[in-house]
Amino acid sequence: MGAPTTPATTGTPARPAPGVPPADRALTRPRQRLLAAAAALVALAAVGAGSLLDLRTPAPKPADAPAGEFSASRAYEDVQVIAARTHVAGSPANDQVRAHLEQQLRGLGLETEVQDTVAPEAGQLSGAAGGATVARVRNVVARLPGTDSTGRVFLAAHYDSVQTGPGGNDDAAGTSAILEVARALTTGPRPRNDIVFVLTDAEEACLCGAAAFATSHPLAADGGVVLNLEARGSTGPVIMFETSRNNAKLVDIFGRAAPHPVGTSFAVEIYRALPNDTDFTAFLDQKFIGLNSAYIDGGAIYHTPLDTPEAMDRGSLQQHGDNALGLAREFGRTDLTELRSGHDATYFPVPGGLVRYPGTLTLPLALLAVAAVAALGWLTRRQGRASIGRLAAGFGLALVPIVVAPVAAQLLWLAITTIRPGYAELLDPYRPIWYRLAVVALAAAILFAWYALTRRRIGPAALAVGGLAWLALLGVLLAVAVPGGAYLTTVPALAGALGGLVALRTRQTGPWPVVAVTAAAAVGVVILLPTVVLLFPALGMGMGGVAALVAVLLGLTALPVVDLLHPQAGGQRGLLALRARRLGVLPAAATAVAAVVLAGVGLGVDRFDADHPAPTHLMYAMDAGTGQARWLSHESDPQSWTDGYVDGTADVGDDFPGLGDGELRAGPAQPANLPAPKLDVVADATAGGERTLRLRLTPQRAARLATLHVDTSTATVLRAEVAGRPVPVEPREGKWGFGLVFHAPPTEGIEVTLTVRPIAGQVALRAMDASDGLDALPGFRARPPAVGVVGSHSSEMLAVARTYPI
Ligand SMILES: [Zn+2]
Repeated sequence: MGAPTTPATTGTPARPAPGVPPADRALTRPRQRLLAAAAALVALAAVGAGSLLDLRTPAPKPADAPAGEFSASRAYEDVQVIAARTHVAGSPANDQVRAHLEQQLRGLGLETEVQDTVAPEAGQLSGAAGGATVARVRNVVARLPGTDSTGRVFLAAHYDSVQTGPGGNDDAAGTSAILEVARALTTGPRPRNDIVFVLTDAEEACLCGAAAFATSHPLAADGGVVLNLEARGSTGPVIMFETSRNNAKLVDIFGRAAPHPVGTSFAVEIYRALPNDTDFTAFLDQKFIGLNSAYIDGGAIYHTPLDTPEAMDRGSLQQHGDNALGLAREFGRTDLTELRSGHDATYFPVPGGLVRYPGTLTLPLALLAVAAVAALGWLTRRQGRASIGRLAAGFGLALVPIVVAPVAAQLLWLAITTIRPGYAELLDPYRPIWYRLAVVALAAAILFAWYALTRRRIGPAALAVGGLAWLALLGVLLAVAVPGGAYLTTVPALAGALGGLVALRTRQTGPWPVVAVTAAAAVGVVILLPTVVLLFPALGMGMGGVAALVAVLLGLTALPVVDLLHPQAGGQRGLLALRARRLGVLPAAATAVAAVVLAGVGLGVDRFDADHPAPTHLMYAMDAGTGQARWLSHESDPQSWTDGYVDGTADVGDDFPGLGDGELRAGPAQPANLPAPKLDVVADATAGGERTLRLRLTPQRAARLATLHVDTSTATVLRAEVAGRPVPVEPREGKWGFGLVFHAPPTEGIEVTLTVRPIAGQVALRAMDASDGLDALPGFRARPPAVGVVGSHSSEMLAVARTYPI
């Protein structure tokens, strides 16, 4: 207000005097430099701590919690029953789990039934290496009828486990959470919409249970909203990591109705890039919409014998249940006909809630960030804080830490796995925290070292603008390629540019420039710090470089604050200037030492022992025709125990087409007294050059799966039916050009009808079945305590095959 005054007293800063060295031409130049640095760092640390505290799981509620609430303690009682032992689809243990689920749901007064059918797998999955895949499934389905239903809400989880472990988390967590949600819902007033509880079978084998429900159950005929509950580890926050397309309204309800909404539109993009699938895929293949949630930390136990009820973090179970119950109630009262929207939302967690905005804003915001950074560059130059040349150099040099930090993180992990090769078979180490911190420290060391080296020549302002320019440009790139992830760099770049502009327009020696750049860096912390923390379990240490990249981007948003750690050079001569320069190296040196120490602590703490065994892959395959047996391993460089079984390599595609193709480690084994599956010809008719074979494939032992393959040099398969259902006839590579995989085969066998055009006199068919557990095999030596089982679908498998010329 009032008459114009000179620039020095208005807040508009003067350009730095000509003699000021480049290193002091920063966006801020507080008088009390150390005080400003300390205040800014404390503020950022507080914001970071707030963001991370927000990711903590809630305390598990006790068994006497009010009836309308979700109690992890109550749900855990079901976890203990469900995951008492391994209960793979088709096993007697699986029957017992199903009986328990039925009893619990009926006990709540819900209409409950078992959908017992034969179903193909969902979509085209990677598990189909052996050929067209089918399973006998038994889904437990219960319905809570709505008072005035506008559609159906489905709560889904799979109750089967893998063959290698009891599935204490995967997916006893989801199954037991649904039982407890069902109980809580039946205590209150009836919801407006139908709520259907779908506990699926054979998820681990082929998603066949969910596919059977979604494609053929009467309750699924009109689609609806699916909330799928999963676990891929033992702990950590429950992340809503996958949605149906055009998710804006679903995400809005998630943000409002889930008590602990952790989810980001970036996770959706990452998940689409990973070779994973859950039951949710089977629902999305049909006309369902919905949300998919899981906790994913503690991935070392995933699909292994260590995935027991005791391994479960009940805080994660509480969060699963709290969110599922809140969402079931909200979707239970929402008009479900109005949930489809025309676009995807961008969303991410912040302390206290979930930020969301329409995906249509993604590109405009990205372009706005570019414009804001350009404006900052222009003002920086106009105020004499950086020349065009220095701005260009700052931009070019900012790419150095962006590239070097991820590469260094990958090299660090390479070094660690060279010292401890057993990590190669783990999704994540048992105690990954030290390694994660080492990666963050390494990224910080690289950023600090780069800054100390470039700051004097290029100047802080040019480097700050250069770093923000990369974030802004990445934002545009992401907005085009992976829109859900664009906020990660767009929003911090926009905040950084605005903070910088405010800093340059206020009096340099006052507190406001520091406040402005600190506030901007805080935006970067809120968005990027949880991303770093969640990326580690999502991708595992093997892809720690991605987290390192995000950590460096976070550092680039905070460069004006980092600059405060560097003493000013101006006015100092001789020894003082030298000391100032040396002090500038301190942050880099400290974080580099921290990275080495943390990695060393990790190696010292996370050793393999009986409770944390080094997992290994071993299976056994026998040809019942020739009596030849082999040990096989998927590992390329097996540990010494496994090495005692597999001394060479073999291509098993010709002998065991049911195991898929490819070179495996192999070694001779003693033949076991195990029968091959029987293949009986029920009918055989030839007409018009086509031969139709009705066959019955009957395992002669308790088999988890059975396969049947046709040598397509003896006949061309025209059509195939399994249990009366047509299956696609898709050519396979190699000798056995047609194949079928049947999971959970019934004891009375599987009826297969093949229509072929004969080439040779007889059709050569290869039948195989597989059970699990190597302990009883001749020549098997029990694992030493520190040797474990890899969580894979063929670990511990015992396959027997035989060729039948017909
Ligand atoms: Zn699983």
